[in-house]
Amino acid sequence: MLSQALHVAARLAVFDALHDGARTAGELAEVASAQEDPLRRLLRFLTSVDVLTEDDRGRFSLTARGEFFRSDHPQSLRPLAMMYASPYLWGAWGALYDAVKSGGPVFDRVHGVPFFDYLGTHQDDGAIFNAAMSSASNVDIPMVLGAYDFSAFRRIVDVGGGQGALLFAILESSPGSQGILYDAPSVIDGARDLASPGMAARCELVAGDMFQSVPAGGDAYVMKRILHDWSDAECVRILSNCRRAIARGGRLLVMDSVVKPPNQPDPAKWMDLNMLVLVTGRERTEAEFAKLFAEAGFRLTRVVPTPRLAIIEGVPV
Ligand code: SAH
Repeated sequence: MLSQALHVAARLAVFDALHDGARTAGELAEVASAQEDPLRRLLRFLTSVDVLTEDDRGRFSLTARGEFFRSDHPQSLRPLAMMYASPYLWGAWGALYDAVKSGGPVFDRVHGVPFFDYLGTHQDDGAIFNAAMSSASNVDIPMVLGAYDFSAFRRIVDVGGGQGALLFAILESSPGSQGILYDAPSVIDGARDLASPGMAARCELVAGDMFQSVPAGGDAYVMKRILHDWSDAECVRILSNCRRAIARGGRLLVMDSVVKPPNQPDPAKWMDLNMLVLVTGRERTEAEFAKLFAEAGFRLTRVVPTPRLAIIEGVPV
């Protein structure tokens, strides 16, 4: 209920309409081209979960938490709200029973094609997904930059780097490094307009398929929230392509959640179910990462924790 309510309010741009101050349900219904009575009920619900407040004149405004759903918030969660309860994801989640009973991913059975193929051919859903990945990255980036020093690397390749949010931030913080942003063609096409002229001069944008190859000659291969999308065999294939491409003395920097032991609350245990319904992947423990690294010719050297994900470092052997 909460996911759908946030999704609908985000999609109707209700949170953006409250940017300049309080509005009544009637005013918001007009802005959103929606029905006033059901919208008021939706807004009342959102006042019960600390996203909106209502004053004694029936005017709604954003709480501190609600501010995060504005499009122009620097760490906006709106793209994630747009994505999570959108019909194509919701449909796959509706088949969780089948995933547990018969095995995942059920996305393919519901939509007829694998998840990333679907995104490549459905422009609107693809654009929302890419924006959602960038907005999740905006939360991860300060933590990653605070935890790891990238300045020693000459050429950093971000494999499956989406539209460059992380790589551009790394290059900003590490002025001596060059970058290569590598992703599927439909994603790279959308990234071209997002790179500033200064960044475009330091970062090459390359479209391709990481199961075939990855750009050669990097001394750092970054992969953030990539391996959790794929089965062990698929991960070994991607990692083996990185192993072939990596310069001597280079570093593999996998950024993913590391699943906590049983009984501990852990967002990774939620994301893991998302992986189950959508793709062939899973969230993994440190031992599981070490095994994947070893099978692809890397040795896991250390795990640098951040509050949301870990930087799992490897060296070629
Ligand atoms: N690293 C980014 C994006 C993670 S989402 C971030 O953390 O925000 C997974 C990414 O893998 C998507 O951008 C998707 O387009 C990319 N991807 C999926 N299959 C791919 C393939 N075969 N080759 C290259 N990139 C691929």
